[in-house]
Amino acid sequence: MKVVLKELTKRFANRTKGQPDVIAVNHFNIELPDGKLIGLLGPSGCGKSTALNLISGLEIPTEGQVFFEEDDVTKLPAEHRGVGLVFQNYALYPHLTVRQNIAFPLGNLKGDQKLPKEEVERRVEEAARLVQIDQLMDRKPSEMSGGQQQRVAIARALVKQPKILLLDEPLSNLDARLRLQTREELRRIQRETGITTVFVTHDQEEAMSISDLIIVMKEGVIQQVDEPQKVYTDPVNLFVAKFLGTPEINVFRGTVRNGQLFLGEESVLDVPGVEDREVYVGIRPEGFILSETGRFTMDLKRVEEMGRDTSVIAAHPAAEKPTVRAIISSENEVDRTKETVKFDIKPFRTYLFDIETEERIPFGG
Ligand code: ADP
Ligand code: MG
Repeated sequence: MKVVLKELTKRFANRTKGQPDVIAVNHFNIELPDGKLIGLLGPSGCGKSTALNLISGLEIPTEGQVFFEEDDVTKLPAEHRGVGLVFQNYALYPHLTVRQNIAFPLGNLKGDQKLPKEEVERRVEEAARLVQIDQLMDRKPSEMSGGQQQRVAIARALVKQPKILLLDEPLSNLDARLRLQTREELRRIQRETGITTVFVTHDQEEAMSISDLIIVMKEGVIQQVDEPQKVYTDPVNLFVAKFLGTPEINVFRGTVRNGQLFLGEESVLDVPGVEDREVYVGIRPEGFILSETGRFTMDLKRVEEMGRDTSVIAAHPAAEKPTVRAIISSENEVDRTKETVKFDIKPFRTYLFDIETEERIPFGG
């Protein structure tokens, strides 16, 4: 099911008295395509949960509309929207078995929605199989790991055969290994069911690894909507460039003169088509090429060997941070006796941004 958000806005009175209202979701205009896994990504407090709650019906918007396909569901209560919800804390009923927990939402159905007992059992089995928990049906939540409990919570959301699945940081309570495993599971379940799924996370790597489409938001405002790789390689602004990628992008203050980018006194890259101006410059760690004749000189701090790759830790007066990290293939030999190190930089891993707006400035070449 396609979801369309039009001018969707949620304003809260500030929790701190005397402070202005918080616009948790600010004029969202977006279409979430049918059958895709959409990652809603942004730092803590940027409005991800509020956006999700507006889609589910747990929150009513201050302004704007929510459509499921052509239907305006803005005023429809959550229980009639046909959405499945999963939260960070699994919120299972501790005194019920896995089977009873999964069946619970079906027991609440009233009138002609009520299902025959056999159909309930069939659906519960099916949901349990899908999340691979069907061997543990008679256990209580306390007898299971966090990952297993979260699978039960997912099965419980699936048992009503929702048209949309909404997941709010569903992996945050799991340890690192389970988090990796469970996110692959989620991807598989989403593919198998084809349910339009919105997955909220503040973890860029998590969003990158499983999403078909990523929405990056900041302070209630959508910044960019793109395929994961595109958000990384083609960020629209400095915020997105910094938020995606580990290690983080290196940021410098630079100047463009006569179609050349200067960092300090050196002309480090040709940037045809850009007028003379001050800029922020983002260079991805993999955007450096070690070269004795390189145009960009930095102070060499140390070298970290990491198997396949080598990190060169350097410093430069125009850099925003005390150290700059360049990641190069370990086949390169870095001369550690020298005080400086020279690089060329890759134009397609280097980005220019306006100093005021922090919007991306395109360059040719
Ligand atoms: P996220 O899920 O990205 O961490 P939230 O959607 O929970 O962000 O919150 C976005 C902003 O809205 C935050 O500033 C938060 O304090 C505020 N907020 C959320 N819910 C309420 C509420 N019920 N009352 C007042 N402010 C709220
Ligand atoms: Mg949240």
